[in-house]
Amino acid sequence: MKDLNALRAARVDWFESQGREQRIKDYIVLANQLVLQRQASFFAAAVLASFYFDAVSTLTCYAAVVLTELLDQLLGRQSRAWDGEDPVVGRRILKRIALNTTLSAIAISIFIVNMALQQTSGSHFTPLFFLFSASLFAAMYNSQMTGILILRLAIYGLAFLFIAFLDVVRFLPPLSSPIWLEFFTILFVLYFIADTSAKFYRSYEERLAQMKRLEEENERTKAALEVKSQFLSTVSHELRTPLTSIVGSLELVNHGVLGEVPDKLKPTIGMAAKNAQRLSTLINDLLDLQKIEAGEMKFDFQPIEVNDLVTEAVESTAGYAGKLGIEVTTVPCAEDCRVMGDRSRLIQVMNNLLSNALKFSDEGGTVKVQVEALGERVRIAVHDEGVGIPQGASERVFGKFSQVDSSDVRKVGGTGLGLNITKQIVERHNATIDYVSELGVGSSFYIEFDRLTDCEEADTDLEPVAEVA
Ligand code: ADP
Repeated sequence: MKDLNALRAARVDWFESQGREQRIKDYIVLANQLVLQRQASFFAAAVLASFYFDAVSTLTCYAAVVLTELLDQLLGRQSRAWDGEDPVVGRRILKRIALNTTLSAIAISIFIVNMALQQTSGSHFTPLFFLFSASLFAAMYNSQMTGILILRLAIYGLAFLFIAFLDVVRFLPPLSSPIWLEFFTILFVLYFIADTSAKFYRSYEERLAQMKRLEEENERTKAALEVKSQFLSTVSHELRTPLTSIVGSLELVNHGVLGEVPDKLKPTIGMAAKNAQRLSTLINDLLDLQKIEAGEMKFDFQPIEVNDLVTEAVESTAGYAGKLGIEVTTVPCAEDCRVMGDRSRLIQVMNNLLSNALKFSDEGGTVKVQVEALGERVRIAVHDEGVGIPQGASERVFGKFSQVDSSDVRKVGGTGLGLNITKQIVERHNATIDYVSELGVGSSFYIEFDRLTDCEEADTDLEPVAEVA
């Protein structure tokens, strides 16, 4: 059994190494896409030929061509069902393609040779032109499989040579005769077709190789991202625990719990506490980002009263606002404004918007949080009278590690991750976030959610909604 599996794996490898699966799929897809174009040309040729040549034999040959086309359609349907895994099925399809190609090329050649046979004088322009078109069509669209292309072109080549020799044998003309001119022209055309086919084949091969390179590149990038994400997660987790204890200890010292702090030490300890807090924020943001990107952030969706959510967030930032001397006012929603959301994640979103509004405002300013119903939507707006954001900075505002004012005029700290995380959380709620701002006047950030109706809430009562991003 083990041997059988090994043999099977080796056959799959062989099959893949030949790129056969892709080639067969490309061949079938293209053949199906061009079916109308092919049928239209065959039909036009049949109408023309049956008018000027013997209608019965022409239409009989045309019927044979249509029959081989039907066989191709049948094969196309079977091949689409093939998952590309089983090389045995792949080989079977290949054999059928070879058989269909032989039958179709013979039917087309007979259709054309039949015309040439009926022309007893003059050149064979019409049949030769048909044959040339058929060969060019194959060269352009059958380059996925060399063997199949060569098979078809070989059969057309024989038809070309048959027509070329037909009049030479029939009339045994002198070398100066136009019959010989036509003969040599046919040889030239054969060379031209072979050359064109080789060019199309090479460009297809290049495209395949390019696709393979892109796939490999993509795999390498994915692997590198995975390693980066794991590294980030491990380092952040390892840093978080000791840092939490450093922040806690510094706070105890700062608040004099461990005894009076000498005045000389106060600024140093204050700075250490502030920086430790900044580090801790950065690490928490990094962990959140990593979780979101790895699709591991859990969302526990519940009906939420937006007014309550806003009150809670405003209360939790009240201390910070007081320290900065900024007044925070709220305008609650006058109607019933509920949304489906993860409460703690939405508090995180509100805290980020509020702390940005506060830290970018001047002392004595006002921050206003407004909740309103807009038809089927609920909007939370956070307005401030702070420094504002220059025009065209939206990508930086919502980007990763990007801050609009990263120059030395920047007074406030931050990681440049908050709004990126906020946006991703908001989008996981099927909501939108945007802002309007004017430099020196202030900014307003808006989040809009779908409003929860009573019926929807009744549905959610039946089954709790929990989702992993
Ligand atoms: P940060 O940690 O730097 O605050 P954010 O992702 O929260 O990172 O914000 C990105 C940038 O957007 C900020 O650095 C700031 O330049 C700009 N910004 C965000 N909110 C405001 C605001 N209310 N007023 C002015 N600028 C803002």
